[in-house]
Amino acid sequence: MTTIAVIPGDGIGPEVIGPALDVLDALRLEVRTDVLDHVNAETYLRTGTPLTEADIDRIRSSEVALLGAVGDPRLSDTAYVRGILTTLRLELDLYVNYRPARLWHDRLSPLRDPDRRAIDCVIVRENTEGLYSGIGGGTRTGTPQEIAIDVDLSTRQGVSRVLEFAFSVARRSVCLVDKANAVRNGGQLWQRCWSEAVAGNPHVETSHLYVDTAALRLATDPTAFDVIVTNNSYGDILSDLTAALAGGLGVAASANLNPVTGQGLFEPVHGSAPDIAGTGTANPLGAILSVALLVEHLGRTEEADAVRRAVAATVATDRVTPDLGGSLSTEEVGAAVLMELRRP
Ligand code: ATP
Repeated sequence: MTTIAVIPGDGIGPEVIGPALDVLDALRLEVRTDVLDHVNAETYLRTGTPLTEADIDRIRSSEVALLGAVGDPRLSDTAYVRGILTTLRLELDLYVNYRPARLWHDRLSPLRDPDRRAIDCVIVRENTEGLYSGIGGGTRTGTPQEIAIDVDLSTRQGVSRVLEFAFSVARRSVCLVDKANAVRNGGQLWQRCWSEAVAGNPHVETSHLYVDTAALRLATDPTAFDVIVTNNSYGDILSDLTAALAGGLGVAASANLNPVTGQGLFEPVHGSAPDIAGTGTANPLGAILSVALLVEHLGRTEEADAVRRAVAATVATDRVTPDLGGSLSTEEVGAAVLMELRRP
């Protein structure tokens, strides 16, 4: 039986994971959940350890994991969030961050031109290297001569494998986004790996854009894109843009994957949203759509499609939380999705 490690986390994390687990239950799959509800900011504030070896072992021994959100306004440095998210990405070598953006209803997009609303693209973000590699340091800290360095790491293995994954999920095209004209060394490595990947996939349409142009194109016509593959930091930024174009952070889902080992960590793109935590208004659709990605990863495509159809029907009939212009609560939206899912 497949085990799913569940980390509800902080803020709205546990609030959106509740309805997401209800949807998972309703699918009646042969899975068991292992809930790590002690992994949160409270524990970190008490013990100083974001994730123990035992926690990592429990997550590693599960086939997949589902995470709500981690983060807390009392913690101003990044040690806690990095201690969970970056640790898991590196420990499990989840080198792909897969972030689909699909417009569930025309009404949700800020782009009003009806011909330009068929948004259905994916950001494939390199997830273990780049500017977030954690390599760097500082000197003369606090003085006027202070210097800080963060290394933008690219390895041939890291770049080739994420490009390979991007081509494996392409339906129409793959667009490489970088800034090779300004970030020369890493840029040239990406370009060399890209030429090899393009040559190996002659039937896939390909293009290349610098990240500034890509942001402009996404904001003017996102329908032009299928798969965008890019580095860690550009993927982080562009996937918030695609999320906004498809209705906002509340509906954006993501998967952190290692396609070789099959391990995956699934989570909504949003964080712990302390401003709305406890109000009962957090949108659970990002977490529910993360469950759709999770069950699809387990080979249950039909169930994943059923969850997506239920979400689309819920949005189409305006049963949504305030971030999407509705007045329903987290629980009511969760119940509406369940009702749609159970509809014969
Ligand atoms: P963290 O520090 O954990 O990343 P954050 O508040 O900085 O948290 P997010 O949680 O990603 O960043 O969200 C930014 C804002 O978007 C939130 O403050 C909230 O207003 C809104 N938001 C995010 N997720 C949701 C959601 N599921 N439903 C409704 N609004 C949301």
